[in-house]
Amino acid sequence: MSNYKIAVVPGDGIGQEIVPEGLKVIEAVAKKHNFTIETESFDWGAGYYLRNEKFLPDNGLETLKNFDAVYFGAVGLPGVDDTLPAKDYTFKVRTSFNQYVNYRPVRSYPGVPGPLRSEKEIDFVIVRENTEGEFVQVGGQYLPDSENGMGVDTSIFTRKGIERVAHYAFKLARTRRKKLTHITKSNTLINSLAYWDRVIKEVAEEYPDVEHDQMYIDNSTAMFVLKPEIFDVVLTTNLFGDILSDLGGAVMGSLGLGGSGNINPEKEFPSMFEPIHGSAPDIAGQNIANPYGQIWSAAIMLDHIGETEAANNIMQAIDKTTKQGVLTVDLGGNANTSEVADAVITNL
Ligand code: NAD
Ligand code: MN
Repeated sequence: MSNYKIAVVPGDGIGQEIVPEGLKVIEAVAKKHNFTIETESFDWGAGYYLRNEKFLPDNGLETLKNFDAVYFGAVGLPGVDDTLPAKDYTFKVRTSFNQYVNYRPVRSYPGVPGPLRSEKEIDFVIVRENTEGEFVQVGGQYLPDSENGMGVDTSIFTRKGIERVAHYAFKLARTRRKKLTHITKSNTLINSLAYWDRVIKEVAEEYPDVEHDQMYIDNSTAMFVLKPEIFDVVLTTNLFGDILSDLGGAVMGSLGLGGSGNINPEKEFPSMFEPIHGSAPDIAGQNIANPYGQIWSAAIMLDHIGETEAANNIMQAIDKTTKQGVLTVDLGGNANTSEVADAVITNL
């Protein structure tokens, strides 16, 4: 019987409510599919920072290396400098563990009223470059208090960084409807994103069986709303992917519906699985947060570690549960967080 070691980092806010519910689903599906999960929970994040002046201990990354995967909620709390959660936790893990793919699927959920007029089925994946681009945090604030003050962030796009995520995205398209749209803004970011386009086009030549087109980020936000059914694999940069994935969540019906994986495709390091949203402090502590995205992230994690049948089982159970109308308040329902997870477990 296979056994997997999962590091659990609930983080802050609603992370502390939805991660335990997601874990209940993982335990239940493991029992059904004859594998075992060994978990260890770490109280890292902004709450930990308030007590220890850091988001994770100095040996935190080393500790995570002993696990097959990291199951994560979100970090960030009002009152804690909000430039820290990404810098000191999320980006730190993503870059240290070469999790250069942020895999963020978007689809229609049965029985969930979406905000769009079109009733067409939506089913695409955002592949967000996850370690470089606009979020490399190279720059500075110069003479900030003076009238000549300035703030600078530099975007860095490397051939290696673009090629590896592009290969992943084209290969993914081959397993789907064989269409890849790469999102850019090279008409105005004439160095960084023109290079991004060039390298992606070179990679595309190795995948003649995949239909490839390019779209500007401004137009693509409109198309996400007006014609989301045209997308299959969407390859985009770190910043654009961050924004587009919240839009993807909205198009599904709620930010709480989006699951994701920060993936190291080579499996040299553990990958990290988390919902697309943040710690939602405005609704924390009330057991009303939508756990579907966190549960979907569990399915993406199980698929990644090789338990594909269990992952599919979770997705079927999610579909059955939303179809039955077991929805949280953000979706117009009245089920609470734990009731949703319990219903998913019943439907496994
Ligand atoms: P957010 O995603 O936490 O919340 C945005 C809105 O969506 C809020 O109104 C919230 O109530 C709602 N929402 C989010 N998830 C929901 C769910 N599961 N169910 C129901 N409603 C949900 O974004 P924000 O408010 O911009 O940021 C809050 C904090 O989270 C900040 O500190 C931010 O830095 C942090 N953050 C962390 C991550 C991460 O850890 N990966 C990602 C994004 C934001
Ligand atoms: Mn985001």
